[in-house]
Amino acid sequence: MSVERIKTAIANKKLRCPHCGEPILNYEKYVDTADSVWDGAGDTSVEFSGCKVTLVCGNGSCDWKERTEYWQNFADD
Ligand SMILES: [Zn+2]
Repeated sequence: MSVERIKTAIANKKLRCPHCGEPILNYEKYVDTADSVWDGAGDTSVEFSGCKVTLVCGNGSCDWKERTEYWQNFADD
């Protein structure tokens, strides 16, 4: 998961605004979220990774925006 995938998805108009149905044009405040948790024995780790981003519609008078960890949910396909 990286900001490049979100950039590409937006550039290709793959993300759709649930409010007006137009492609989402912008995003802001992207952050990676990643944690590694060691079990104490030193040989096992559990990793969680993801990201948070605010999707911004940006079409005409639509002021929809949403802070989400699941931006793929807005992908067209
Ligand atoms: Zn919209």
